[in-house]
Amino acid sequence: MDEIRIFDGHNDTLLNLHLPDRGEGRSFFERSNLGHIDLPRAREGGFGGGFFACYVPNPDDAWTEESALTVTDEGYEVSDAPPLDPNYARSFADGLVDSLFGLEAGDGLRIVRTADELESCLDSGDLAAILHFEGAENLGPDPGALEDLYETDLRSLGLVWSRPNAYAHGVPFRFPSSPDTGPGLTGAGKELVRECNRLGVLIDLSHLNERGFWDVAELSEAPLVATHSNAHALCPSSRNLTDRQLDAIRDSDGMVGVNFAVGFLREDGGESEDTPLETVVGHVDYLVGRLGIDGVSFGSDFDGAKVPKGIGNVSGLPELLVALQAGGYDEPALEKLTHGNWIRALRATWQG
Ligand SMILES: [Zn+2]
Repeated sequence: MDEIRIFDGHNDTLLNLHLPDRGEGRSFFERSNLGHIDLPRAREGGFGGGFFACYVPNPDDAWTEESALTVTDEGYEVSDAPPLDPNYARSFADGLVDSLFGLEAGDGLRIVRTADELESCLDSGDLAAILHFEGAENLGPDPGALEDLYETDLRSLGLVWSRPNAYAHGVPFRFPSSPDTGPGLTGAGKELVRECNRLGVLIDLSHLNERGFWDVAELSEAPLVATHSNAHALCPSSRNLTDRQLDAIRDSDGMVGVNFAVGFLREDGGESEDTPLETVVGHVDYLVGRLGIDGVSFGSDFDGAKVPKGIGNVSGLPELLVALQAGGYDEPALEKLTHGNWIRALRATWQG
C-alpha cells in the first residue's frame, strides 16, 4: 500500500506547546518524547495535518477537571465547569492563534482556508492546519468578532467546550450518562449558527449537549459535523453521540471524527492506555454501519487525552491503519477514512 496521508479532526497541540507544565518546553520542529505531535513524528506517522484547536482552560485556581471529579459506583461525574470571562478567553485564544501563525512561519506547516489548499498540502507534504476555536467564548464579548477572525483564517468553531457560555451549554464529563444534560442554544447561539453558515465556518458539534445539537440540526444548512466524538452505544459517555444523533448526521451528509481518547472508547469509560486498537476499530465499524463509509474519519484528541498505547503518539498512526486493514477496510475505504471524507465535508461546508 502507498503511504496514506492522514488528516485529523482534533488536536490540542497548541495548548500543549503553550503551557510550560504540559509541553515542558518542547519544540514543534524537533523530535520529542513529550506530548503526541511534533513535525518529525507527524512525518513518520503519515500525519498530513488536522484541526488545531484553540482551547482555553479555566484559570487554575477556579476549577480543574481533577478537583471536580467524583468517582461513582458505575463510573464518574465531573461537576460543571464555570463559564469563562469572555475577555480572558479572547486574550488567551489570541495567544494560541499567534502560536499557530508562529508555527506557519517555520518550515513545514500551512494554515489552510479552502479544501483546495488542504489537498495541495496533502500532495506537497506540508502539514495542513485548520484554525479551530473550541468554545465560542473565545470570540470575546462581541460575537461580531467572528467575521474579523474569519479574515484571520478561522474556519472552524465549536460552540462550546464542556461548560456553558453565552451561546450554548457543553456536556459535563459523565459516565455513564446521556448527552441530554441541559438546555439548548441561547438566542445568541442561534444567531451565531446563522453567521457561521453565512461565512462558511464549520460548526463543530463535539462537546455540545443534546438539546443544543438538535437546535443546530434544525437551523444549520451545512453538513452536521462532530470533529472528535464516538458512538454512545459502545461507550455511554456524555461526550459520545446517540444513534438518533448519528442518523441526523448521516441525513445531512455530515461526519464524525473518531476520538482516540480511551475514556470515550472503552465500554467501561475507564482511563487505561491498555486499550486495544480493536476498540478503535469497533467504533469505526459502528459509525460506518450508521453513517456509511463516507461519514467517518479520525479526530484523535492528540495532546489533549490519553490514547491507546498501541498508537502512543502521532508516529503510531500506521499501527491503526494495520488494524483497520485487518478489520476488512481496503485501500479505497482507507483513503476515505484517513482524509477523503474530511476534504468532502469541508468543501461542502466552506463552499470552496
Ligand atoms: Zn475536545
